[in-house]
Amino acid sequence: MHEYKVVVLGSGGTGKSALTVEFVQGIFVEKYDPTIEDPYRKQVEVDCQQCMLKILDTAGTEQFMVMRDLYMKNAQGFAVSYSITILLVRDTEDVPVIFVGDKCDLEDERVVGKEQGQNLARRWCNCAILGSSAKSKINVNEIFYDLVRQINRK
Ligand code: GDP
Ligand code: MG
Repeated sequence: MHEYKVVVLGSGGTGKSALTVEFVQGIFVEKYDPTIEDPYRKQVEVDCQQCMLKILDTAGTEQFMVMRDLYMKNAQGFAVSYSITILLVRDTEDVPVIFVGDKCDLEDERVVGKEQGQNLARRWCNCAILGSSAKSKINVNEIFYDLVRQINRK
């Protein structure tokens, strides 16, 4: 079976863990624990092909650069979450990336405009962007499926 190593990056509180746990376990985590950094595995079928997704949900607080370098090097794809109520920017190279504007159920509290998000994604890494909600189960699978497809295209 094909294996896909992906890393979920983004500032604290933007929905990395909620999206990952929603995708892997189908439950919405209401409680916020910013320190959790865990590896997850999930077998899914994407485009008629079985794949094993290995997902690292990062906490963004790595003291050990060696660790971080290692998973940044080994990962094949990245999901970068920014809550539409919070903004973030990180560096990347030419690798499969998807920008995720999480918490789209909180439209009333939107601070980061849709267009602003799109411009950011385009300028920053020329990558795809997706609005999602771990809470309302919107576009959660799509994040990871899109990464699998991007990795397949490489
Ligand atoms: P992380 O630090 O990026 O891992 O952030 P979390 O995934 O722990 O989420 C931070 C907080 O935002 C938690 O209290 C979550 O319940 C909440 N949250 C995450 N995703 C959503 C979402 O799609 N909608 C809403 N309303 N809240 C969310
Ligand atoms: Mg987290």
